[in-house]
Amino acid sequence: MTQRSLTHAEAVSRAATVRQLSYGLEVDLTTGEETFRSVTTVRFDAIPGATTFLEARPERLLSATLNGVPLPESAFADGRLALDGLAASNTVEVTAEYAYTRTSEGMHRFVDPADGLVYTYAQPSITDAPRFMACFDQPDLKAPVTLSVTADPSWLVRANGEGTQTAPGRWEFAVTKPVATYLITLVAGPYVQVDDHHDGIDMAIVARASYAEILHRDAPEIFMLTKAFLDRYHELFGVRYPFGKYDQAFVPEFSWGAMEFPGLVVFRDELLFRAAVTDTERLERAAIIAHEMAHMWFGDLVTMRWWDDLWLNESFATYMGYRLVAEVTPWPQSWTRFGVGRKSWGYAADQRPSTHPIAPTEVVDTDAAFANFDGISYAKGCSALRQLVAWIGDEAFLSGLRAYFDKHAWGNATLADLLDALSQASGRDLQAWARDWLRTPQVNTLRPEITWAADGSYESVAVVQTAPSAYPVLRPHRIGLGWFDEQGQWQRTEIEVSGEVTPVPLLSGVRGKGLLLNDGDLTFAKIRVDDRTRPELASLLAAQPDSLTRALLWNSAWDATRDAEWPALEFVRLAAEVLPGEPDVTLAESVFALARLAVNTYLPGALREQGRAALAAAARTLLETADAGSSRQLVGARSLTALAGPGERELLRGWLGGIGVPEGLAVDSELRWSVLNRLSVLGDVSEAEIDAELARDTSARGEQEAVRARASRPDPQAKAWAFDLVVTEQGRSNRICIAAGQGLWQPEHAELTEPYVARFFAELPASTGRSGDMLGHLASAAYPGYAVSPVTLAAAEQALAGTMHPLVRRALADATDDLARALRARG
Ligand SMILES: [Zn+2]
Repeated sequence: MTQRSLTHAEAVSRAATVRQLSYGLEVDLTTGEETFRSVTTVRFDAIPGATTFLEARPERLLSATLNGVPLPESAFADGRLALDGLAASNTVEVTAEYAYTRTSEGMHRFVDPADGLVYTYAQPSITDAPRFMACFDQPDLKAPVTLSVTADPSWLVRANGEGTQTAPGRWEFAVTKPVATYLITLVAGPYVQVDDHHDGIDMAIVARASYAEILHRDAPEIFMLTKAFLDRYHELFGVRYPFGKYDQAFVPEFSWGAMEFPGLVVFRDELLFRAAVTDTERLERAAIIAHEMAHMWFGDLVTMRWWDDLWLNESFATYMGYRLVAEVTPWPQSWTRFGVGRKSWGYAADQRPSTHPIAPTEVVDTDAAFANFDGISYAKGCSALRQLVAWIGDEAFLSGLRAYFDKHAWGNATLADLLDALSQASGRDLQAWARDWLRTPQVNTLRPEITWAADGSYESVAVVQTAPSAYPVLRPHRIGLGWFDEQGQWQRTEIEVSGEVTPVPLLSGVRGKGLLLNDGDLTFAKIRVDDRTRPELASLLAAQPDSLTRALLWNSAWDATRDAEWPALEFVRLAAEVLPGEPDVTLAESVFALARLAVNTYLPGALREQGRAALAAAARTLLETADAGSSRQLVGARSLTALAGPGERELLRGWLGGIGVPEGLAVDSELRWSVLNRLSVLGDVSEAEIDAELARDTSARGEQEAVRARASRPDPQAKAWAFDLVVTEQGRSNRICIAAGQGLWQPEHAELTEPYVARFFAELPASTGRSGDMLGHLASAAYPGYAVSPVTLAAAEQALAGTMHPLVRRALADATDDLARALRARG
């Protein structure tokens, strides 16, 4: 079913037409394996004689009536049902058969290979509610929904509202509060559930049957976090959680990390941990749980009017998520993780040609909205909010938010509404701040300009701010300033920076070293260090007691490397020297990942092998010196696995056979697959061995890993098979296609995959049968990013000159920008 992207202009006009809207939705999941049936009853008021349209994208429209009169066949085209000659009060009834999907778009259907059981869930995404109902699919037409579901009587069926099984196979759900269509969901299948309650709120955690043991193991931690976050939000926001119960379902093959459906948050079930994980992963899961819960207020209770204010959802939820993890969980270092992990995503996105303001003045249609689910809306927006809090103070920030919730509860709001509330609360005019920070894209660079006195003290220090020439905006920044004093103590103060040069007189005459701008990470800017600090980074990192400060130093080094100001080998050597002694596992894990990226994309030929060997040795040292069973040990093992060369082959082989396994290291299913994947890249694994591993692990995850392992083999047939999975629609799940794309390209297989570089750019954008969103995912996951050469760049640029879906274009353009950076780094 083709679909036309909804434009902002259409949404504005429709919102002016439709009033007093409500939905009745009857879903029947018993009509076969390919399709299901639903009946949508849409009631609304309008000005008599007006026209509008509903979205619906069924396989087969069975009937559609407006006020009892059948609509002509011609009324339905391009996923839209035209409604002409409206009455003052209207009822539209649409009965249709819709297709199940394997791509987490609309109604996903999943058969668990572990036990053959069938699971479904509804993912309305931004534009996919019309794949299971007829609706006005835009965020400012919020409406109560009355849902009923027909399904296998043995199933568990949950939805936004409270539900009961009123007869075998029949569930009726209480009418919801007014919700936007992108927030309507249901979860139905032989799921299992664990219950709890807190402060008058019933809560459940749901997962598929083959995850029952894992569910029971992880549920206490998830409930503990959920309760702590609820209590804290109640304190901070002054509005109680407004949607009754609070369910959290972990579902298979979910395309996003999680989604904030009111009353029933849905997560990808990789977030239930079936194998050993690091503290970083537990911290990130906690941040996601807190992020989704924040959306109950930011997004669900008060909804953006249109997608141009997506940041009102994502920036706030990201900020609140990391903040609450720091405040009420066992992982107070969450801002360290944000600083070196998520924030790098924001910096990367903001420096691409596709950059946009945190709050764009116009998002023309839903395709454009999709593209903005990126590092800017999440990570940069979160940083901008930290900066805002530093400017106006936490008290004013929170009282502004409370006023905003009070005024706009159950309705929609815009940037202007938020600024009004915050300006009133803080007594400051925030228009100029919003213009510089929210309405203009790209990032500033801050560097210290130091003149040194003969005795080695600072004679004068100034902060110099620059901006890229295409976006010449200098912003106000409230930043921390840190340095080691003569006694080796870390000192810190806060200053306000604006314009090109900000002198820092308080440092004149100070004998300091390792001066760091933005200590405490209050702002979003690229930070450079001075020439005397750079050669001493290893010892400064070792002496630095604060993990967040170390994260900022790493970020600075990484930025300079990405910008090709520093040789990539310098970053890799620094990582190899310092990481084995890094006590914070979050930092060690994050920086290993950056250094590995530098090895695999920024270092050419011989240097690559040198960098790889140095980093692998560092991973081995970390592994051997970490406490048994610790997260650091697991980081060492994973990093060593990912970086292993022929010299480490025997060691990894041994682990699979239980030989030479470090004490406390669990060689569980996940680590086994990682090892097998790496050995596969090295040409050390046969198809038969992959089959044998899959027989040990028959889970969906095992299937995906087996696909990745096959695609990773240095074998022409394996590459041809993997390429075909990427570019040709075969009805396989989203996860399987992405796994094939991940295995296909390897730095070690450049010659073997060379013929696929040109074919990738020619065939992927032209691939049919999959949505633009799904193809965009594939374009990112299966991009030939290791084929760093001018030939690849030329092929990419030629492809981008042609026509393709905007989401595929965005994914290819962003990955191509990374490729161009890699080429510059090699130069
Ligand atoms: Zn979110």
